[in-house]
Amino acid sequence: MSDHDADALAERVRDGDLRLYELEEHADAETAAAARRRLLERETGAALDVTGDYAFDPEAAADSAIENLVGGTQIPFGVAGPVAVDGDAASEAYYLPMATTEGALLASVNRGCSAITAAGGANARVTKRGMTRAPVFRVADVTEGAEVARWVDEHFADLKAAAESTTDHGTLQEVTHYVVGDNVYLRFSYDTADAMGMNMATIATGEACDVVEANTPAELVALSGNLCADKKPAAINAVEGRGRTVTADVHIPRDVVEERFKTTPEAIAEVNTRKNLVGSAKAGSLGFNAHAANVVAAVFLATGQDAAQVVEGSNCITTVEARDDELYASVNLASLEVGTVGGGTKLPTQAEALDVLGVRGGGDPAGSNADELAEVIAAGALAGELSLLAALASRHLSSAHEDLGR
Ligand code: NAP
Repeated sequence: MSDHDADALAERVRDGDLRLYELEEHADAETAAAARRRLLERETGAALDVTGDYAFDPEAAADSAIENLVGGTQIPFGVAGPVAVDGDAASEAYYLPMATTEGALLASVNRGCSAITAAGGANARVTKRGMTRAPVFRVADVTEGAEVARWVDEHFADLKAAAESTTDHGTLQEVTHYVVGDNVYLRFSYDTADAMGMNMATIATGEACDVVEANTPAELVALSGNLCADKKPAAINAVEGRGRTVTADVHIPRDVVEERFKTTPEAIAEVNTRKNLVGSAKAGSLGFNAHAANVVAAVFLATGQDAAQVVEGSNCITTVEARDDELYASVNLASLEVGTVGGGTKLPTQAEALDVLGVRGGGDPAGSNADELAEVIAAGALAGELSLLAALASRHLSSAHEDLGR
């Protein structure tokens, strides 16, 4: 790349000779990004030197991760832990990679991890897998809608064959129909192995829709009819799950609670009931937790997950009980959408963060790496819940934020 090329290209965009998105047709991706920075610098007065100092391969990024590339945004990346996790896929102590700008977050999660590990570790299990895509079809009326629904029930094998013809790793598990007046929604659910699976499920569902249209009166209106439901708060995800449904729990001896959290199991349980359960119910919340989204978002950013799916990742119920000589706590993340292949997981720093967890790429068997990632995130969310609940119980929260976050 030469500055001259970038300046000349920026000038051509300014003159209206080229559009912003056409730069890669005239230069390599690095030069195209530099030209956009020049243009923005001239037009907005912003200095973009730091933005231009990035470590990923611009060709690869421009190829599959972003259009109109300008540079790179950096987010501080740290680790909490180690946290011991005993799962179906996870079976060791993990350093949890987290990218965030929230001071005090890692300190808090770290404290939770240390209590969990001192207690012998968290149990974690993925209890359901299912990435969904729900196209909407137009029918004449409910009679025709019911006819389409019946056809779908009787021809699942045909839909499965069509959908799975597009992928080596995706498996169609079920199709659930919803008839609403002259609309038919078909919610396709796939096991997408180690991929988060949104592209995979969309492509496969498109193929299956052709079969529906060829054999029924239904006409496809949109490949996504929002009953999926992707990147929107939706009760269907909290109830039925989406991506991975994963649960983690821990039994922490009373003396460990008192030593690490400076409070009692009873006080933590009371905060959980009054805040996470009653308060969330009164608020009409879909998430009955303190801040599960904090851990989900930070690990998503560090490991190249789709950040917008933190919406679904916040569908978490936290339970806490004070038992005779211990505190029992659990988190249930109903719709955690994670992958260790595809999407942003290919970017270099994100791939390194997956290496910290030992889950980069496809697992053996397929799906086990994404299961492991889900189980570790659940254990991290549990650590975050316990630490924040304890801080509230001991009335420590504002002083921690004053010391670490300001
Ligand atoms: P993808 O990169 O499009 O596809 C994953 C690929 O990995 C597939 O081609 C699959 O091949 C391959 N693969 C190799 N080893 C695998 C393994 N062990 N397990 C599973 N797959 C394996 O990623 P995706 O997960 O389907 O979609 C994620 C992307 O979708 C993200 O970039 C996200 O931002 C974006 N997204 C798309 C939509 C949409 O509506 N299209 C919505 C939200 C997000 P085979 O399929 O041939 O087996």
